[in-house]
Amino acid sequence: MHLAERPKVAFISEHASPAALLGGVDAGGQNVYVDEISRNLGAMGISVDIFTRLDSPESPGVRNWSKGVRIINVPAGPKQHVFRDDLWTLMPEFTRNMLDFIKRNNIRYDLIHSNFWMSGWAATKLKHRANIPMIHIFHAMGKTKRKHQGDMDTSPTERITIEQLVASEADYLIAQCPSEKLELTEDYGVDPAKVVIIPSAVNIERFRPIGKEAARTLIGLDWRGPVIGYVGRIIPRKDVRNIVLALHKVITNKPDLNPLLMLVGGETREPDPKATPEIGVLQSMILELGLQDRVIFIGKRQPDELYAYYSAADLIVTTPWYEPFGLTPLEAMACGRPVIGSNVGGIAFTVSDGETGYLVPPKSPETLAARIIELLDKDDLRERMGSNARHRVVKLFTWERAAELTAQLYVKALSKKLHIANTDYRKESDYEYR
Ligand code: UDP
Repeated sequence: MHLAERPKVAFISEHASPAALLGGVDAGGQNVYVDEISRNLGAMGISVDIFTRLDSPESPGVRNWSKGVRIINVPAGPKQHVFRDDLWTLMPEFTRNMLDFIKRNNIRYDLIHSNFWMSGWAATKLKHRANIPMIHIFHAMGKTKRKHQGDMDTSPTERITIEQLVASEADYLIAQCPSEKLELTEDYGVDPAKVVIIPSAVNIERFRPIGKEAARTLIGLDWRGPVIGYVGRIIPRKDVRNIVLALHKVITNKPDLNPLLMLVGGETREPDPKATPEIGVLQSMILELGLQDRVIFIGKRQPDELYAYYSAADLIVTTPWYEPFGLTPLEAMACGRPVIGSNVGGIAFTVSDGETGYLVPPKSPETLAARIIELLDKDDLRERMGSNARHRVVKLFTWERAAELTAQLYVKALSKKLHIANTDYRKESDYEYR
């Protein structure tokens, strides 16, 4: 990668700030992506400003986040958390304030890297004003969501139209895996030459294997038998119900296995069905199936604690209906644990079937139960798959690699526009809201 001058990137992510990883309720894969990609680009000498909505009374206007990376909190609507699908009406205000901030502080960006459809819309406005290239990553597509969620999809009605607009305005689109590229080219009619696959990744220092017993001691889990782990948001789409049904089948067919299902995630540190309604649904199901002693809800944990939870498990299971990419399978693999995952979206790309775990059809507790029994029965196979899994992520799915590929795309986008990088950088203290 060669960048003659230090480029300055406007990274737009209206709802997913890296700062939310420190305890926010709506933080998922996109927050991790924004954090890791910007951090690694910053370390490579690229200057990144992350524009995100001001969602708490305390947040300052500008915050230095990591080397070369700042978070610019843009006022739009109430200074509190707003449900993601309600943010669309705030986007004109967000965009106006973002553009005002850039103008007031006389910042000249070299390119835009926008995230999710709403920020994509804001990015088109900046693109036209500044006449700079725009790279966009959707993270999830509205058509796929509507197909799978039907009436449960609470996305604003404009979503798909705006996605079409963003897809046509962007100079390049990043797809996280081949199935996402197909969604873009087949469902949205995007020119394949415009779509670049850059797989998202995992922090392999943070997610590292430790011994099972040591891990169980660390997290205070006293269980003699095997542990099946799930880590992630607890929402209907992730279909944890499917895992509970499979557990019931495992126990019925193989009572001697004595497995425990450990569910990590939810909106709060203490599992709370009020804050996470799906936990309530699962609790009723567990009671009905008589599995009260076989399932534990851990609650949400911070990223730097998770390696111990992954490592405490013998295997990790994730069977969503669909998954745009899915970071948790990679995190489990980085911790040296085999993954049984749905044969959908990014999981079908990251989990190597028969090598690092198994791919199973979604909504099929029978198939899942059979694979769980097979893996719990064979210690050697589990160990071999766990070790293959760690090797696979170290080789293919590090954030350093993802950032390097992203920087290469920046170079391509900048040369396409024959853009001359701006070298007039101002001091940190010069940037502020008035
Ligand atoms: N996560 C977390 N604490 C939890 C559960 C999940 O920090 O208690 C993180 C998890 O480690 C992963 C992200 O949330 O990095 C979820 O990303 P993924 O792509 O798997 O799913 P999404 O939530 O974006 O649908």
